[in-house]
Amino acid sequence: MTRVYNFSAGPAALPEPVLRQAADEMLDWHGSGMSVMEMSHRGPEFISIHAEAEALLRKLLAVPANYKVLFMQGGAIGENAIVPMNMLRGRASADYVNTGEWSKKSIKEAQKYAKVNVAASSEDTKFTAIPPRESWKLDPQAAYVHICSNETIGGVEYHWTPDVGDVPLIADVSSDILSRPMDVARYGLIYGGAQKNIGPAGLTIVIVRDDLLGGALPITPSAFNYAEQAANDSMLNTPPTYAIYIAGLVFKWIEAQGGLDAIAEHNRTKAALLYDYLDSTAFYASPVAKDARSLMNVPFRLHDEALDAAFLKGAQALGMLQLKGHRSVGGMRASIYNAMPIEGVRALVAYMKDFEAKHG
Ligand SMILES: *Cc1c(COP(=O)(O)O)cnc(C)c1O
Repeated sequence: MTRVYNFSAGPAALPEPVLRQAADEMLDWHGSGMSVMEMSHRGPEFISIHAEAEALLRKLLAVPANYKVLFMQGGAIGENAIVPMNMLRGRASADYVNTGEWSKKSIKEAQKYAKVNVAASSEDTKFTAIPPRESWKLDPQAAYVHICSNETIGGVEYHWTPDVGDVPLIADVSSDILSRPMDVARYGLIYGGAQKNIGPAGLTIVIVRDDLLGGALPITPSAFNYAEQAANDSMLNTPPTYAIYIAGLVFKWIEAQGGLDAIAEHNRTKAALLYDYLDSTAFYASPVAKDARSLMNVPFRLHDEALDAAFLKGAQALGMLQLKGHRSVGGMRASIYNAMPIEGVRALVAYMKDFEAKHG
């Protein structure tokens, strides 16, 4: 068996020890004689798996006691609708900061339910920066302020937490959750799909301050009503049980790496290998402002795009896959989530140097 270095933006690489443990437990979880996939979500085995996953996540992120952790479905794109349905709380409008493709999707969807005020945008930089906080035109009456903490496509990440006063801050954290510690108490709600840093697609994590619950629009589907899900321990409907089990294994793996401080240090080291090299040569370029560069998704361009196909082919031959950039921005993108080992990044940089030597 050969495992490749998978630089996919998502679904993305998972830690190998997690996949091995899941394989070992596939037919018989802990002597139950069943696969986790075959268990009732209301049985004691799965309830223990669910409770442990939630407890681990709470511990890793130091989630305050007055926040609910919900394991839902629908992905982050689903949440783009579910957030306004639940979080308008009788108000008419919400503030959104536009930093790229994922922000744009959130804005477009929210406009079906709310008056959206785009409080700031970095479109003038072609979404290669975060608009400085002083430039945001926030409405004190807004139901919430929405940001995308890491633009997976553009490779733009907040390395600071915006202060938005008493209005709840909401963040799509799909592609940088658990890549570093975060102060959950600064947010009213964070949400993310699992398939970048957590586990299989299908599971969606929502962490929400409990005083914000209970004001959902009447049209909100019950399965997507945070208050109803919170009252039912995320089991109002059948949750994505197998994805929750894998997420729990990933949380345990993160804990075994030393928790989020250690993971963040590792991620900084990995990203620096790539960015330092990109900055050292004119053969490649990173389009993103230095203070907003993502540690998870590293877009870059070759100085001559006619070489793109040869670059990708050569990488593939060495077992480095999914390096093609998103069609909306072109070029290359290396996604280096928690599970990407530093050896994978080293191998990529070595290949890039080699490619430059041959074609530069
Ligand atoms: C991947 C991603 C999404 C989309 O998630 P789905 O599971 O496809 O709904 C949304 N936002 C961000 C920041 C993402 O990285």
